[in-house]
Amino acid sequence: MVNMAKLSEHKTDLIRLAVVALALCLSWLKAWKAFLPFDAIALAATLIGGYPMFEEALEGIKKRRMTMEISMSIAVVATLAIGQFFTALIIAFFVLFAELLEDLTVSRGRDVIKKLLELLPSQVTVRRNGQENEMNVNDLTLRDIVIVKPGARIPVDGVVLKGHSSVDQASITGESFPVEKTEGHKVLAGTINQTGVLEIQTAAIGQDTTFGKIISIIGQAEKNRAPIQKVADKLAASLVYFAFGGAIVTYALTHNIVSAISALVVAGACGVAAGTPLAILASIGRTAKEGIITKGGIHFEQLAKIDTVVLDKTGTLTFGTPEVTDIESFNGLKKEDILQLAASVEQHSEHPLAEAILKKQKDLGLRLLPYSNLEYLPGQGLVCRVNGSEILIGNISLMDKRSIKGQTKVIEYIDQRKNSTETTVFVAKDQEIIGALSFADVIRVEARQAIEDLKKFGCQVILLTGDNWAIAKKIGETLQLDKIFAEMLPQQKLEKIRELMQEGKKVAMIGDGINDAPALMAATVGIAMGSGTDVALESAGVTLTTNNLMKIVEALKISRQCLRVIMFNFWGTVVVDAVGMTLAFLGYLTPLFAALIHVSSELAFILNSARLFRKNGAPPRQSGVGLHEI
Ligand code: ADP
Ligand code: MG
Repeated sequence: MVNMAKLSEHKTDLIRLAVVALALCLSWLKAWKAFLPFDAIALAATLIGGYPMFEEALEGIKKRRMTMEISMSIAVVATLAIGQFFTALIIAFFVLFAELLEDLTVSRGRDVIKKLLELLPSQVTVRRNGQENEMNVNDLTLRDIVIVKPGARIPVDGVVLKGHSSVDQASITGESFPVEKTEGHKVLAGTINQTGVLEIQTAAIGQDTTFGKIISIIGQAEKNRAPIQKVADKLAASLVYFAFGGAIVTYALTHNIVSAISALVVAGACGVAAGTPLAILASIGRTAKEGIITKGGIHFEQLAKIDTVVLDKTGTLTFGTPEVTDIESFNGLKKEDILQLAASVEQHSEHPLAEAILKKQKDLGLRLLPYSNLEYLPGQGLVCRVNGSEILIGNISLMDKRSIKGQTKVIEYIDQRKNSTETTVFVAKDQEIIGALSFADVIRVEARQAIEDLKKFGCQVILLTGDNWAIAKKIGETLQLDKIFAEMLPQQKLEKIRELMQEGKKVAMIGDGINDAPALMAATVGIAMGSGTDVALESAGVTLTTNNLMKIVEALKISRQCLRVIMFNFWGTVVVDAVGMTLAFLGYLTPLFAALIHVSSELAFILNSARLFRKNGAPPRQSGVGLHEI
């Protein structure tokens, strides 16, 4: 019922409230009544206290929008008209008081978010040409070297050039155990350098940092209103009509103006209108603190309704940091040569398997060869030319599709590994498979717990992977998944999601980035895991800043709590208004009582929403593993 006043406006509201309260006190002290023109004082105080309400009522009339301020203003004017100055004063007092309290709670909600994202340091120490200088962070250029002392917040995204320290990344990840950072490690703006001096090469400043992006997403989250918020606003508007209708009917049937005014005052109390945005604001703040970044109320509401959770395998259910466990050569080439070719093709790829190959290549000190004409086939592999030959690297279906031949050795190899849980990738040169690489990846420590909890929430849990069936089955058994789908291309993942949604399921798709982007966008809610990659931030409605599956459970829990509170407020409002109207009609209510019911029910619903600021229930379980680098 109230527009959101800025903090400075609270002062005038407080003064108004004091004037009204003083007038009320005076009226209670009978002694004064003899000396003072009390009616005049009450009238003046009502006008002063009710001014913001009258103003908004006029605004509503001008815009031809029926608002609560209009019905309440009419009620106050009518009460004054029948000479009940004291009652009018009390109604004004209640309305003003409720409004102030509501504004304070909402601005507290904003503060929680602001505090959470405290601004980055504005002054930084920079080394240019061997000299250290203080300068404003906005004057930095990319590649500037920033020096960060212990205890200071890191001002930029960048890479550590020199130094060793532990860094508290809680501002981004919501988990405050320190992460060791040394040369070559990425660091993020907004995190806190704890123990050592770090020299950081700047990669992004201000709004371009991960931190900056999170701030802007949360800043906009409020605008992305949840559908339930529109329903709440609609309810509020219809309640005003209900109040008018009820008042008119009451007067027509009972000819009692006091009952009619009471009806007008009591009905149309709408805690849900104010309580809903507050509940969502509180919950967005709470999840953000946990490293769960929600792009808006709409995703939040959908999260609460999820009944099917679809998980990608590599990087989502597993750590996504596989290691090369075996290299096989089929036609006499040295294993190093196979690895060298594979690494050369993968040198600019960001796939977890590529990282494993490049790590192995580095460990063995192999040189990378130049490539050309590179083509990336998501969910399958890569094709390019090296030294004049066409080189392919990818899964067996890619080899099949390109009708690449393998010797009997290849078929034997595949047969041997039928039941292995390791991922195999083949390397082909000029239409012939020359080698294979095997990788072992590890299931996340918290995966079992997270899946168990998701099932307790009544969700069906499904695995969707581009990897082969043997691995999918093994993981499905280990984690007791409800369904598995393997050897899926990104397009097929997308179709699977669509299929589930056509069955009426509310699907949360959890993936770790680029090749899952289409599926993330198609799902009811796309949840991007960790890494804070730009693509993930853009294509998913929800981003987890840590690679911790328990955060999904946490997100569902908080969103469900939020929706429960909103639904309670919704039906509570309907019941209070209906009962209030009946009482008014039967003549049991005075305008004073009506105002009391109106205001106290609104406050109750607002406070019910404000409960969400507190973290209730058990603290979220930690994953038990160290933070994954982001
Ligand atoms: P997941 O669904 O498990 O996350 P992806 O869809 O990323 O897996 O990839 C599926 C399969 O495609 C991998 O198991 C691998 O065999 C092959 N593949 C994808 N990208 C690459 C790559 N860059 N190099 C080699 N193989 C790849
Ligand atoms: Mg993946």
